[in-house]
This record gives sequence, structure tokens and C-alpha cells, in this order.
Amino acid sequence: LFEDPTPLVAGLNPEQAAAVTLPPEHALILAGAGSGKTRVLTTRIAWLLQSGQAGPGGIMAVTFTNKAAKEMMTRLTAMLPVNVRGMWIGTFHGLCNRFLRAHHQAAGLPQTFQILDTQDQLSAIKRLCKQHNVDDERFPPKQLQWFISGCKEDGMRPRDVVVRDDETRRKVEIYQLYEEQCQREGVVDFGELMLRSYEVLRDNDPIRVHYQRRFKHILIDEFQDTNRLQYAWIKMFSSPHTEGLPPSGNAVFAVGDDDQSIYAFRGARVGNMADFVREFQVKHQIKLEQNYRSASNILNTANELISHNSRRLGKNLRTDAGAGEPVRVYESVSDFAEAQWMVDEMKQLEREGTPRSEMAVLYRSNAQSRVVETALFNAAIPYRVYGGLRFFERAEIKHALAYLRLLENPHDDTSFLRVVNFPPRGIGARSVEQLQDVARSSGCSLHDAVSGVTGRAGTAIANFVALLDVMREKTEAMTLKEIIELVLDKSGLIEHFRNEREGEDRVENLEELVNAAESFVMQEGFGRDAVALPVDEHGSSLSQSPVSQGLDPDAPVLNESLAPDAETGETLSPLAAFLTHAALESGDNQAQAGQDAVQLMTVHAAKGLEFDCVFITGLEEGLFPHENSMSDRDGLEEERRLMYVAITRARKRLYLSHSQTRMLHGQTRYNMKSRFFDELPEACLKWLTPPQPAWAAAAPSVGGWQGGRRGLYATGGSPAANPAWSPGFLSTGSGTPPPKASEPDRGVDIRTGQKVFHNKFGEGKVLALEGAGADARAQVNFSRHGVKWLALSVAKLTPVDE
Ligand code: ATP
Ligand code: MG
Repeated sequence: LFEDPTPLVAGLNPEQAAAVTLPPEHALILAGAGSGKTRVLTTRIAWLLQSGQAGPGGIMAVTFTNKAAKEMMTRLTAMLPVNVRGMWIGTFHGLCNRFLRAHHQAAGLPQTFQILDTQDQLSAIKRLCKQHNVDDERFPPKQLQWFISGCKEDGMRPRDVVVRDDETRRKVEIYQLYEEQCQREGVVDFGELMLRSYEVLRDNDPIRVHYQRRFKHILIDEFQDTNRLQYAWIKMFSSPHTEGLPPSGNAVFAVGDDDQSIYAFRGARVGNMADFVREFQVKHQIKLEQNYRSASNILNTANELISHNSRRLGKNLRTDAGAGEPVRVYESVSDFAEAQWMVDEMKQLEREGTPRSEMAVLYRSNAQSRVVETALFNAAIPYRVYGGLRFFERAEIKHALAYLRLLENPHDDTSFLRVVNFPPRGIGARSVEQLQDVARSSGCSLHDAVSGVTGRAGTAIANFVALLDVMREKTEAMTLKEIIELVLDKSGLIEHFRNEREGEDRVENLEELVNAAESFVMQEGFGRDAVALPVDEHGSSLSQSPVSQGLDPDAPVLNESLAPDAETGETLSPLAAFLTHAALESGDNQAQAGQDAVQLMTVHAAKGLEFDCVFITGLEEGLFPHENSMSDRDGLEEERRLMYVAITRARKRLYLSHSQTRMLHGQTRYNMKSRFFDELPEACLKWLTPPQPAWAAAAPSVGGWQGGRRGLYATGGSPAANPAWSPGFLSTGSGTPPPKASEPDRGVDIRTGQKVFHNKFGEGKVLALEGAGADARAQVNFSRHGVKWLALSVAKLTPVDE
């Protein structure tokens, strides 16, 4: 049976086929981009099912994004008739959510626990800090959030943190208070989803053993980006060697690429791969070396770039595809010009028959998308932005969701505070503080503290609570769609935004929420009208007695958000399920689904995807590589891997672009072209604009602020030799901008790209300039001290000859 080449493996190369048909033992597939890792993983699932080695209930597959999970299910259904719903395929968060709903009692959570996204988590921390008079200068909430999430990712509860100084002690106290607050309010953040389910598995032998017996096959894509806790979580399902117990008999199949590890900043550990091989005594390691995705000019470009990294496991990647087109490089004068050029190229591509969905624009930071969006919008080219502000994260949507959450759980204080005076109903900050005081002293939720607030403030808040109670009562027997419509209306949200200038978009988004709910109901096949339950491949209906669902190995679970309680079979209400979906769903399926649109996303979000034509934009020092990462070697190597991921998304055509100037965060920056250009094979490139030396490219050639002083350079006098260069000069230089200059004269004769010397930091290169006169500041990348912002009126910078 194992040797029989089934049609499933017919199209695969020998290494791929070998990987797909490995015996049920631990395996690591380590291979470069586009070598078919994801395809092998998906095909293996199909092969396991088809050869009868596993039923759908015996398989768990972990993907990195919801999108990838959906794609995997689609591909599987195309390969063989199988009920994918019974399988556990999803992201770590999605699977943990499903697990905790089923075992909420063991986890000490209400079944209807709500999920805090990153924004919610931050506001919960801010609220806590205020309540406990935490000095937010010493302990900025963002930093606390980072600390708490970091602890959780390392599997540490407050008591596990090693306290060495007062600062850590205070942070741990806040962590503890935060946990208590979440527990009281019945909410769970992303890190908690993972940690809590890990602990349930660790501390409950029957549950752990049940799942170890159930999941005979655990498959993990993008294994290089797992963190410590995720790895420990996987171990729980397979217990590589528990002393005194027979081996659990399940197989972990991990696929990954060390060169594509791009989440170290969030705790990912490439070292998990080596640990896995050692701890699981992995017998099968397979390398895939043939790339099926990209033309060879593109592949060579990627290979050459990544060869500049020192710490690599070492893999080769070749292709049978021809050279294909050269990689096109474009330099523009501004980000607007860059976007306009892209739009023109896209129009040409479209004329040549490339569908829009096969064109992707990739950038390093979300903030870069706006200018591209404007250009696309003006050209009437449909586009879709992935991974930016998720649909469910938009302010108006969060407001609506807060009302909905309060219907489910009146004690959700985060939601309460969000909407108690939104739309404005005359409840001031003072009244809210009063309410919080009462709640604190009587140890109850804000909702229950209302009667303790007297006077006018008390009446206004009581009216708000009464509004919620009425809504809850009225919506009891309604469908999800009706509930949302009622809430949008009665809360006054729609009316509020109708009267707001430029509130039209927000009203549209709120209406979109109704659509989102409707498609959710249809997709998940529940709601009052949905009676037809899916039928499995043997023709029997999947509706079973609730009790059997939890601990029966092959019990189907209709969907992740509806995972029933393991003991009682109780499942969430459609509303609660929808709220969970809103917290976990990336939102990529909202808005314009199905339309042929150009794809916009960050490089991080593009992992695992592929497109015929890819534009990588903003290839500038400080942006890509990002300024936060370029001062140390690890950071720079991670940026390079990110660039490797970006390049390897392209099948046929790749564009790389950089711009001399760019508006970012309200400032114009003058950037040097990225150092990555110097690491690409010249023979594969085609410069659409003449190439320039790295730093000269950054000198502003249009409307530059230095226009007034250009003469200094024009006469050929080197700045270093000019006596005018002194700190005094820097601070007192005249500030008359040339008439057409778009930037104010800073009275400084330092250009971007200029090499300078600083007494303390040594030699560096000017990355950007801003401000004028006494406020003039320069951003300088010092070779040994990293990137710094310096006030030019204070810092002694001497230009250096090159
Ligand atoms: P990444 O590292 O970017 O996640 P990957 O290794 O997961 O890439 P896949 O996405 O599985 O690679 O495959 C890349 C492309 O090559 C896909 O379009 C896939 O269908 C195709 N492909 C993989 N193997 C073969 C094969 N044997 N014959 C033809 N095409 C293949
Ligand atoms: Mg992949």
C-alpha cells in the first residue's frame, strides 16, 4: 500500500513523493521557498485519508494564517471527497480557541469567553494602570503589553517570572492584576488562548491522553516561525518521551525554511527546528531543492541576496524554469511618482492579460499603503489591502461589537467603557470615574455598580444600562442579522455617523457588518433556518448526541467557533460565535470578496503566497531594512530574510523600486536606496532608470530644501574644507527657502546621504533631515552605534569626504 504510486503523488518529484508517503513517524521537511512544502503537507493529508491510515478526526494541521487554512481545506476537497469540517485545520489561535470552548470548565473559563484583540488588550492595560496609579512615563502601557505578551509566549505566569529588580517586580504586579481583571471580565487575549490551552493539556491527564490518542497525525506548516510556547503545545499532543509511558504513537510532520524565519521580533525561535530533531528523535529529514514557482532570474536574485546571511542551515534551490524576464528596478523622485509609475505598469500588465489578482504590491510597513491606495483609487483600479487595519478593528466596527458583546456579557468592562458615552450621551469622564470607584470598592463590574452612583450622573448612566437591558431582552429571540440591525439602530451609532462630516464610509462599514454576519451564518451553516447538517463520506448525518462529541475521537465539530462543551455539548449562541469569529478572523474576506483586485500587503502578510507579478516598493535605507533593525547583525539578517520572502513570492515578473523622497508619518524623508540592491546579481537586473551610487541617489533632486545653498557644492568646495562648517553655522544659518522648495530651509548644509563624523559616535551617514533653524534634526546611521536622531544645533557633526 505504501509503495503504490497513487494519482495523488503522480505529479510530484521523487523527494516530494517520498515526503508525502513517509511512514507514520516524526519528520522534518526543510526546504527553500517555492519548493512545494505546503503542497507536500496538503497532499500528505489527502494521502493519509485516502490510504485509510487516518480518518478526518485523527488529523490536526496548523497553518500560519486563516487564509492558508481555508486554502488548505479547498485544496483537500478538490483532491478527494472528504468532510473537512471534522478535521482540525487552523491557526494556533483558532485551534486553541476551539479547544478552550470544548474544555472551558477545565480551563476555568465561561464558555462564552470573549477574545481581546491587540487593541482591546492595550486599552484594558491602560484602564488597569489608571486604576492602580501606575506611572505611565515609567511604565508605558505599550511596554507593559509587550512584557505581558512576552511572558505568556515563554509560558510564564506572574509567579514564574524571575524578579531581580524593582522595575520587574512592579511589572509582574501589573501582570498579576491584569490577569485578575481578565478573569473577572471573562476575556482572553491572544497569548492567553495559547497558554491556557497548554496548561489544560499539561495539567489534565485524561484530556491530554485523549488528544494524544485522537490525533495520530500532527502537521505544521511554517515551522520556523513557531515560538517556545507553540512548540511546547505541540509537544503536549505527542509527548515525545514521557518516562514510564508507551510512546504515544503519533507522528509530527513539520515543514519549514530557516531562511524565511521572519517573526523573531515576536518570539519565534528557529532553534525549534533543531530541538524538534533532537527531542523527537526525528528519523526522517527530507530536503526539497527544486523550486517550482519562479523564473530563474528571480530565483537567482533571491539566492544571491540570502547568501549574505551568515547563520543559515544551508540549502540549495534550483529551477528548471528558463531565465524569464529580468528583474526590473525603478527609482522615482517621490513616493507619489513611484505609485503613479506602478499604476501605469499595472495598466500595461492588464492589457497584456494579467489578471489583477495576480499583481501584488508588497511593502515593509503598513503606513506605506496609503499613497499606493490613492493612486489606484484615482485610476479606478480595484484593490484589496490585506493585514492592514482589519475590518473588525475599525473604530466604528469596534463600537458596534462592544454593544454586541455587552448583550452577551454585561460585565465586559472594556466594552462598557468604550460605548458608555458613545454616541455622546452626556456622561462625562468624571461620572465614569465615580462609577469605576464604586465598582472597585464593591468588587463588581461597572454594569452592577450603577446603583451606587447618585445625582445627574447616576441617572444618565442608569439610562445607558437600561438601554442595554432593553436591547438584550428584545434581541433574545432574534436572528443574528436582526440583532445587529437593532443594535446599530437603537445604540444611535448609525444616526451618529450619518450626521458626522465624512461619516459616510463609517455608515457603509456598519452596514457591511450586517453582511459579514449574514455570510458568517451561511458559511457556518447554523442559524434558525439552517437545518441541513453536512453528511460525511459514508452518508451518515453528522448530527450526533451532544455528549458524544467532546471525547469521541471521531466526533465531528461543525466549526471552530461552535466547538461544543466536551461534557454538556453546549455550544455558543450565533452571536457569541460571531463575536469570536470577529476577534480571530483576519478580515481578509470582507469587502469586495470575489472581485478581481490588485493585492496590497506587507511582506509579513505575504508569507506562503505567490503571484505572477510582484512589486516590492520602498526599498530604502531605514525603511527596508527597517531603521529599528539595521543596527545589529541579527536584526539585519532578519530584514534580509524578509526581503528573501518578498522576492520569492514572484512567479514571472518582479519589480523593485525605491524613491528619493517619501512622506511617512507626516514628514518628508530623504532616503538612500536600500543596501540590498548591492547584494543582488547585476546580470539578473534591468534598470529602468539609470543606477546611481547608493548615497548620491538620496540627494533630493527636485524641490530640495538645500536649494538655497546648492552653490556651495556647485563650486566644488568640499564641505569639510569650508570654514563655514561649524556648530555655530549650523544653528544660525539663514532660513530663506527658495521660492519653489517644498521643504523649509533648515539652515544646515548637511544632505541626506552625506557622510559625517560625530565626536562620540564616530562616522555615520545621514538618513533623513527634518525641522528648520534651531529645531533642525538629522537622522544618522552610525556604523557602530546604530541609528540616532540628533539636534543639529547641539550635535557637532563634521562632513567627511568620500
Ligand atoms: P513557501 O516557502 O513560499 O511557503 P512552499 O515551499 O510552501 O513555498 P508551495 O507553495 O507548496 O511551496 O509550492 C510553490 C508552487 O509550486 C505552487 O504553485 C505549487 O503548486 C507548485 N508546485 C509544487 N510542487 C510541484 C510539482 N511537483 N510540480 C509542479 N508544480 C509544483
Ligand atoms: Mg508554503
